[in-house]
Amino acid sequence: MTNEEHAPEQPEDKAEAAIDIFDGVRQADGNPVEPVRLQADDRFCFSCHQSVSCWNQCCHNADVTLTPADILMLTKELGLQPAEFLAQFTVPDIWDKSDLPVAKLRSDEANRGACVFLAGDEGCGVYAARPATCRYYPMGLASVKMAEAHTKEDFYFLVKEAHCKGHAEDKSQTVAEFRVQQGVEALDEINRGWIDIMMKMMSWRSVGGPSAKKISTQAKKMFFMVSTDVSAFRRFVFETKFLNTYAIDEDMVELLKTSDIALLQLGFDWLKNVLFNEQTINMKEDVLQAAIAKGRSDMGAT
Ligand code: SF4
Ligand code: SF4
Repeated sequence: MTNEEHAPEQPEDKAEAAIDIFDGVRQADGNPVEPVRLQADDRFCFSCHQSVSCWNQCCHNADVTLTPADILMLTKELGLQPAEFLAQFTVPDIWDKSDLPVAKLRSDEANRGACVFLAGDEGCGVYAARPATCRYYPMGLASVKMAEAHTKEDFYFLVKEAHCKGHAEDKSQTVAEFRVQQGVEALDEINRGWIDIMMKMMSWRSVGGPSAKKISTQAKKMFFMVSTDVSAFRRFVFETKFLNTYAIDEDMVELLKTSDIALLQLGFDWLKNVLFNEQTINMKEDVLQAAIAKGRSDMGAT
């Protein structure tokens, strides 16, 4: 998720923000990279299997940023709590385009930078729960919001790194077919709120946010908690004043006790409110009135 220069060009005067969500680049080894922009029904030739001469090469020195959906799947697969998973298998990092904290997969420097989940010649040891970046490869996903548009548009691009021989295979598929084969649709759906926040922050960093507002360290910690540790966020919701502060109906409160996906969506809505003042979650009326009265009092109004 780091190579903005590989994104297909957008008209500069129209694109408010174009962002690579998965950049399709796995190894910063100086290989020439050929990005090709694709639509959902465009075809391309690619296949990856144990017989390719480059088998597992892309699982060394890979730069894998974990999305919230990745962490949900991997913790279930491994039977770990998010905090245990983060401590054992990830390193914290800052996604520099957004200046927001993320978790990246560890690699084993003593083993040529192999991913912690690489199981030798068998390939990926967590294949069924592999991260979105690994599923997408060698495709990139980018999202763009045009200045006059209200919604964002996703588009795809194929990245041809010299080490990847899968491009020489003759298996042909459309982008849409590849996305189904790789199971990325459901992950993208879960990650949508997280992607929105990343995009907005990147836009703020490039063009300046309202009143040049900076995101506080505390808010960044909250972003990291929601994005990486759904158990910690559940404790935050149920063991602090959260439910006394925000108007959340009883059915949803029940669902939040068991559904990690519902909890993530609440977390993204809450973060959009905290970070950008979007009306994605409402305060309870008495809390809101008390906050307004305090604000007036602090300003010396009667
Ligand atoms: S998670 Fe699996 S596919 Fe992804 S880099 Fe690690 S071993 Fe490779
Ligand atoms: S073909 Fe490409 S994706 Fe498959 S192992 Fe080789 S480098 Fe990795």
